Amino acid sequence: MALVVQKYGGTSVGSTERIRQVAQRVAKTVAEGHQVVVVVSAMGKSTDDLVALAAAITDNPSTRELDMLLSTGEQVSISLLTMALQALGQPARSMTGAQVGIVTEAHHTRARILSINPERLRAALDQGEVVVVAGFQGMSSGNAADFEITTLGRGGSDTSAVALAAALGAHHCEICTDVPGILTTDPRLVPEASQMAEVTCDEMLELASLGASVLHPRAVEIARNYGIPLVVRSSWTDQPGTWVRSRPAGPRSLEGMEIARPVDGIELDLNQAKIALLQVPDRPGVAASLFGAIAEQSLPVDLIIQSIYEGNANDIAFTVQRENLGEAEATAIALYEQLSQEQRSHQEQRAHQEQPGSPAQPSVVTDARIAKVSIAGAGMIGRPGVAAQMFQSLSDAGVNIQMISTSEVKVSCLVDVDQSDRAITALCKTFDIHSSNLAPAEPADSLVTPPPVRGVALDRAQAQLAIRHVPDRPGMAARIFTLLAQHQISVDMIIQSQRCRQINGIATRDIAFTTAQADALRAQAALAELLSQMGCAELEVNSQVAKVSVVGAGMVQVAGVAARMFQALADRQINIQMIATSEIKISCLVADDQAVAALRAVHAAFDLAGDRAIEVPA
Ligand code: ASP
Ligand code: MG
Repeated sequence: MALVVQKYGGTSVGSTERIRQVAQRVAKTVAEGHQVVVVVSAMGKSTDDLVALAAAITDNPSTRELDMLLSTGEQVSISLLTMALQALGQPARSMTGAQVGIVTEAHHTRARILSINPERLRAALDQGEVVVVAGFQGMSSGNAADFEITTLGRGGSDTSAVALAAALGAHHCEICTDVPGILTTDPRLVPEASQMAEVTCDEMLELASLGASVLHPRAVEIARNYGIPLVVRSSWTDQPGTWVRSRPAGPRSLEGMEIARPVDGIELDLNQAKIALLQVPDRPGVAASLFGAIAEQSLPVDLIIQSIYEGNANDIAFTVQRENLGEAEATAIALYEQLSQEQRSHQEQRAHQEQPGSPAQPSVVTDARIAKVSIAGAGMIGRPGVAAQMFQSLSDAGVNIQMISTSEVKVSCLVDVDQSDRAITALCKTFDIHSSNLAPAEPADSLVTPPPVRGVALDRAQAQLAIRHVPDRPGMAARIFTLLAQHQISVDMIIQSQRCRQINGIATRDIAFTTAQADALRAQAALAELLSQMGCAELEVNSQVAKVSVVGAGMVQVAGVAARMFQALADRQINIQMIATSEIKISCLVADDQAVAALRAVHAAFDLAGDRAIEVPA
């Protein structure tokens, strides 16, 4: 007999008819010999309806009353489902978040779970009852006067379900929904999208913009931290769905469940060497030929960073293992020669037209004396200040950051190898990580060989912001991103690449990043004064961008994944505006009007198409 937590979403309990069907399914699971805890969302779109009711009263409802209101949606569905179970002769009892002991922070409308005391729930289970729990809600604790109803943020029932599974040590948690599982990409944009049989929690978190609508990222974070097997499947069929896997987790306290440290790993790689191609033409196909040539030599590439263009040129920097530096450099030089030849003949053709100045020629620089330091942790999602804290910590230690590349759950910086000890000591202290826990980056799943690419995500909600000519000395990135964090602006990609310019005798670099489009102008305003103090540059904002990402835990073991992605874009004449990578993710920024074409091209390039189209619910 296993203990199973089943969560049913709003559509699955959208009518009394459906509630009766869900009851049948729950009763069937019990009949198979399991103990079952059911977590439900509010019926259909009723949470939206409640939000609309509040808006009809006032533009500015107090968040306490909003929680009081929104939490009622789930209470409707738990009582109805429990009645339906009882009508089938299945002993059952409904409970609110407070009744099952879900204790949260006192932040109304976005509370995180602090702890769960599942005693009452367990007692009911032991009496042979199914317990039907209201998702999305909890109760704050603290002073006796402080027992307030809270909600976890929209979509939060998934998080309630996985948190209960963790607290009860459930065998697994099922997220039952109106889609058959998690798909390789958005089927509304790519009809060939197919269903993944499994995906790791780390991959799922990196696929944020794809996965968030199917699974609340905080639920994935809890599943990962507590090693809870999770499956997303249809509420109506016996199809297996998509398993979301995590490595078995060691024992972990239930205290501080969702507020434990935002960073849970610090990684150091001393075996890196950097190669940068400066001033390569900003046109489709350049990254594809470079990484195609590198892949032909079967050289694994680690970080790839391309920041904003300058004039009509880009810099592309990447790292390889130090022993591969010679070969990679020779390949880069060969490509560089080919590019400069093209540029020369291009110039000759245009010699009769006016050609002010001659564009700088590309060149290749290498550095074998670098180290990569990274912070990793699912907890950095939605916490604006984590990257800033890393930069500040490095700055306080006098460490200069040469390059930066970020993904959803990781920030990596390249630093001088002589400064790496200092960097690590500082970061361990800042993030309270014991240095004996320093882990080399390891594949997310070492049991089976994961495929190089599991899924492809598109994010069209980001704007690109670029700051040119930031002085190249410790502390600059820290100041910029701390200020943004103080304004509660979450930053997504952060990219600092190779390009270094002398401006009035000061060495400078460009830093580019993305934020939600809605935050871009606020970010610009917030930074204006600091930038003028630093004597740098104008801030450029471009909202017409989209981010296409491939994610796969297996890409570290396979040469040529980046090359294939870049080639797929080049074949459609799609220019890559920026590139950032982590071990399991490659993201490219492209023009927004090419977003869907880019997504389709990349999805096709990795043979992710299924043999039959997935039905998209309306
Ligand atoms: N009912 C809540 C919402 O609509 C929570 C959930 O469905 O997960 O956001
Ligand atoms: Mg949901």
